[in-house]
Amino acid sequence: MKPALIYDLGQPELAEILTSWGESTYRVKQLWQGVYLQLWDSPELFTNLPLGLRQKLAEAFRFSHLQTETTLSSRDRETVKTLFRLPDNQPVEAVLMRYERRRTLCISTQAGCAMGCVFCATGQMGFRRNLTSGEIVEQVLYYARRLHQKSEQVTNVVVMGMGEPFHNYDATLAAIDRLNERDGFNFGARRFTISTAGLVPAIRRFTAEKRQINLAVSLHAADDELRSSLMPVNRKYPISELLEACREYVEQTGRRISFEWALIQGVNDTIEQARKLSERLQILKRQGTVLCHVNVILLNPSPHYNQQASSHERADAFLAEIRRHGIPCSVRLRRGIDIQAGCGQLAGQL
Ligand code: SAH
Ligand code: SF4
Repeated sequence: MKPALIYDLGQPELAEILTSWGESTYRVKQLWQGVYLQLWDSPELFTNLPLGLRQKLAEAFRFSHLQTETTLSSRDRETVKTLFRLPDNQPVEAVLMRYERRRTLCISTQAGCAMGCVFCATGQMGFRRNLTSGEIVEQVLYYARRLHQKSEQVTNVVVMGMGEPFHNYDATLAAIDRLNERDGFNFGARRFTISTAGLVPAIRRFTAEKRQINLAVSLHAADDELRSSLMPVNRKYPISELLEACREYVEQTGRRISFEWALIQGVNDTIEQARKLSERLQILKRQGTVLCHVNVILLNPSPHYNQQASSHERADAFLAEIRRHGIPCSVRLRRGIDIQAGCGQLAGQL
């Protein structure tokens, strides 16, 4: 049997294995804290454990699945992107963005993606495979270790890298839960944001679980014809159904929802789209406030999509129209454009 990736296992599973070796629960705690508090990534570093146990750990577990293939820093050094390879050669990307005190990490949940959004480099690759929970966890630990060397910490994690997290629901949520454990990495649920292309049943499941994790929905168009032409998933879950699921989420959790909108010149950046969007979002209104936030981003170029990002003038006009209807919105800075920090852009070229 191949050694298990240690980040795939929760404390109960590790306890079971160590107990079967005749070890005490105290050792399980030491192992857990070594991995998630000390951020040790090799059994040799566990010098608080007896040598025999360290050797057993080395035989039973892998402490890394991710091989760093390429690391790119943007010119301003504020964005770092890493392309990893998994043992089966699949690509995975993660991006770290620095902004004042924030250290926001963008992680992947799948190699490739099955959703086929036409503007997205990951979508253009097609679906390769789901990542395991441990492979998702390891991306966070990788950057946490790098930041730790500079006495810094990851402050936010956005699940907006390669793949559709709600198409790999269990592994994604298991990874977040593992990183959330108090006696380990202790990363608060509120500091995670999951972005989905709009898988309605999964949004409903997420709502029912009443988690503290933030939810973002990629909308990009306000009518079904346009949205289906950009995002094939819309044919299965059209906008009215999607927004109804969003309404239930807002109602049942009392939390705001974010909507992502990549502005594409002459495609979805018209005043008409802004108006339609504003009208449709009114169903999220509670006591005079529309409980959402529209995050506008300028389209990042991708190899197989022949459209341009909107001009700043058009972007400003689009935002002004949404604001006029009382919808909170902002432009997300386009970070790391010179290192292709957009979704799947590096792997897609290989
Ligand atoms: N699959 C999820 C999360 C990963 S994509 C989702 O689609 O929401 C993260 C975000 O990047 C999404 O909002 C997606 O629509 C957006 N995106 C993808 N390709 C892009 C591009 N070329 N330019 C700008 N945003 C893009
Ligand atoms: Fe998949 Fe998201 Fe890209 Fe669409 S935008 S293809 S859902 S990763």
